[in-house]
Amino acid sequence: MSRAVVQRDLVVTAARALMMPGVVREFENLARQAREEQWAFEEFLHEVLIAEQKSRRESSIRKRLFQAHFPETKTLDTFDFTATEGSVSAAQVAELARGEWISKAHNVIFAGPIGTGKTHLAIALGVEAAKLRKRVLFVRAADVVRQLVEARDARELGRLQRRLAIVDLLIVDELGFVPFDRAGGELLFNLMAERYERKSVLVTSNLAFSEWVKVFGGDEKLTTALLDRLAHHATVLTTKGKSYRMRKRGSSAEIESGGDPRPETSSPRLPKGTAKS
Ligand code: ADP
Ligand code: MG
Repeated sequence: MSRAVVQRDLVVTAARALMMPGVVREFENLARQAREEQWAFEEFLHEVLIAEQKSRRESSIRKRLFQAHFPETKTLDTFDFTATEGSVSAAQVAELARGEWISKAHNVIFAGPIGTGKTHLAIALGVEAAKLRKRVLFVRAADVVRQLVEARDARELGRLQRRLAIVDLLIVDELGFVPFDRAGGELLFNLMAERYERKSVLVTSNLAFSEWVKVFGGDEKLTTALLDRLAHHATVLTTKGKSYRMRKRGSSAEIESGGDPRPETSSPRLPKGTAKS
């Protein structure tokens, strides 16, 4: 074995032991470049360290994206803002993509009819948050309520609640599609109340705020208390327009199967005593 090969193996072994995959991958290319361009030793070392840093950042983002459980990948660059009839501005979404609201434990609510891009935007903002290395979790409202009920029945509610509590951004999609019974509504309420001013929630809903009470089994008090907390520090965006899928098919006359029968959700109104910020 040549001296160079032995040397290479020694570096690989040491870098693996130190869990430095970026070094393992990059050091040979960098060493070649360093020889060709006659870098100082310090310069070479610096480049190797930067390669490791980059590799760690990327793998932590991959991990965050994996843990977020997005149902599919949607990104901001594939979102067509001209299709929203001016209801959602690119500038506002770009601001949300910077993630400061998550650091402040503020919330975002997307309300509007089916097919208007609520889930797309929710996932895309979740992806941006993951890139900022925030802990994100995407759940459908009906699924998380079912999980909470099951955990309660199995006497494991505390464990699930703790797991949800460490997430920086909880995306609750499709609130309003399936109404909850009283117990389910209360569990969801507790989940949101627990996060108030501590961690962020992003909710998408096809319902106007005035209709949320239907989801919570007609419990006005609970619904008002929930909306109070959720909307206290929230950006509320109301998506408008025709269903994007329908639009893409070039037929606006046809009604989507399984689609929302109502033509347009009325603009959400906040309960009394809440303020947008
Ligand atoms: P909603 O959650 O409001 O019902 P979705 O976000 O699921 O709607 O959108 C339905 C489909 O249309 C998705 O495939 C989504 O990517 C696409 N879509 C909706 N609005 C837009 C848009 N403005 N630009 C690009 N794709 C869009
Ligand atoms: Mg949706």
